[in-house]
Amino acid sequence: MKVAPYHSIDPTDPDVYHDHDNCPSGQQIPARNKRSGTNDYRRCQHCVQMG
Ligand SMILES: [Zn+2]
Repeated sequence: MKVAPYHSIDPTDPDVYHDHDNCPSGQQIPARNKRSGTNDYRRCQHCVQMG
């Protein structure tokens, strides 16, 4: 489902933010690297496709 924007602080991850908790890419972010907000990144393509 749709959630507040979040992103990864891991520099090896793509510079995107997610806004679905079931995004396959967003789900790979470990809790320690997960932060709320967009960080001025563009939106993840998976999340775009989910609406
Ligand atoms: Zn995503």
